Amino acid sequence: MTRSKKVSLPSSVDIAIIGAGAAGLGAAHALKDSGRSFIVLEARDRVGGRGHTVIAAPDIVFDVGCGWLHSANQNSFVKIAEGLNFEINKDLPPWRDRAYGNAFPREQRDDFIRSMDEFFVRMHGAAKLGMDAPASTCLEPGNRWNPMIDAISTYINGAELDRVSILDFDAYEDTSLNWRVRRGYGTLMAAYGATLPLALNCVVTLIDHSAKRLRIETSLGTLATDKVLVTVPTNLIADEAIRFHPALPEKVDAASKLPLGLADKVMLALEDAEQLPKEGNLRAATMRTEMGTYHLRPFGQPCVEGFFGGRFARALEDEGRGAIAAYSIDEIASILGNDFRRKLKPLKESRWAHDPFARGSYSHALPGHADKRAVLAAPVDGRLFFAGEATSAHFFSTAHGARDSGERAAKEVLAEMPTR
Ligand SMILES: Cc1cc2nc3c(=O)[nH]c(=O)nc-3n(C[C@H](O)[C@H](O)[C@H](O)COP(=O)(O)OP(=O)(O)OC[C@H]3O[C@@H](n4cnc5c(N)ncnc54)[C@H](O)[C@@H]3O)c2cc1C
Repeated sequence: MTRSKKVSLPSSVDIAIIGAGAAGLGAAHALKDSGRSFIVLEARDRVGGRGHTVIAAPDIVFDVGCGWLHSANQNSFVKIAEGLNFEINKDLPPWRDRAYGNAFPREQRDDFIRSMDEFFVRMHGAAKLGMDAPASTCLEPGNRWNPMIDAISTYINGAELDRVSILDFDAYEDTSLNWRVRRGYGTLMAAYGATLPLALNCVVTLIDHSAKRLRIETSLGTLATDKVLVTVPTNLIADEAIRFHPALPEKVDAASKLPLGLADKVMLALEDAEQLPKEGNLRAATMRTEMGTYHLRPFGQPCVEGFFGGRFARALEDEGRGAIAAYSIDEIASILGNDFRRKLKPLKESRWAHDPFARGSYSHALPGHADKRAVLAAPVDGRLFFAGEATSAHFFSTAHGARDSGERAAKEVLAEMPTR
């Protein structure tokens, strides 16, 4: 395990970065050789934020948050992984064309994928006309696959299409190349953050920008700084978990229009693993939005990883710990047969909505509010700067989008500081 360079809270720095997720780490790396003093203030006892890898069992690595290096040919974490000697896996993801067993036969799958592709074509057409209505208006009325297309939206956006802006959804850049790192995306982030000055267990509560120097109140004490770079998830800004003085209503409003949708994962140990294919996908033609999708034996490991999104994920989280695993085992047994009940054992499940420092999984813009990413990203008064996945114009909701936004904001900070 890589250890981050932990420091206690100094009384004053040139630049304070709030949050040690991908954005905060990207920002800190961009400041490393600037000659400016800086520190990353992180509420948790670890770096990575929504990037977090756990060893779920001795032979099972589990990315509880991000796992895929999306748009890999444009993903800045690929180079970082290579530089840190992380093995990159380029196998095709299983989620589009594959489905194990007979629960979702080829012919039906082809029909579903055709309907989904047509939905995306209609949405792109609407976006070109500048329409910022709910993406659900691009569904073909009466199409039998609509509930499952909505389920895909809950995986991609963390929200059903009625909550998603057409313009925003269409602005996402997907180059269709998705890679992974064998040791986990969260492990990669921890290694990336290893040499940075960090104050862990440091919960920021107030950013006072009423005087010439900024004053930051935290659970570890108060810090004075010239510039602050905020990278916390939108839901925390919208809920005013971090307050600004004077208040910044424009930021709170923008953040509330870019809420974090919900995606949750569950990891199940699998007995007699050889029975199921490596890197397979399991899902049924349920005709419902409330469904899981299952990755069989990722990296050939003896396990099944389930994925849930949107209102259904929220309802399962609200049922309490273990509900996602219990539902998954029921659903898998209903597809593959009751024998699988005894072969599957819950190892770990995420509860991102209940995580106080995330309060959700990744951002989407509400209909009519695709412009809010730029509003959230804009600096205030040459002293307050904003990064995080939600501020990315085209790679929002991703780890690399977050990292790149941190770098962008760090450059904005330095541009406001006199050269030495
Ligand atoms: C289940 C799931 C699956 C995902 N899958 C993928 C994927 O496959 N590929 C992909 O690219 N992305 C994926 N993502 C999204 C990706 O993880 C995020 O977009 C990205 O990690 C966000 O980085 P960030 O720096 O913007 O925010 P965060 O990672 O949330 O970092 C913000 C940091 O701020 C800290 N913080 C919060 N409040 C305070 C406070 N008051 N004081 C101090 N610190 C505070 C938090 O603890 C956190 O460390 C997934 C996310 C989830 C949840």
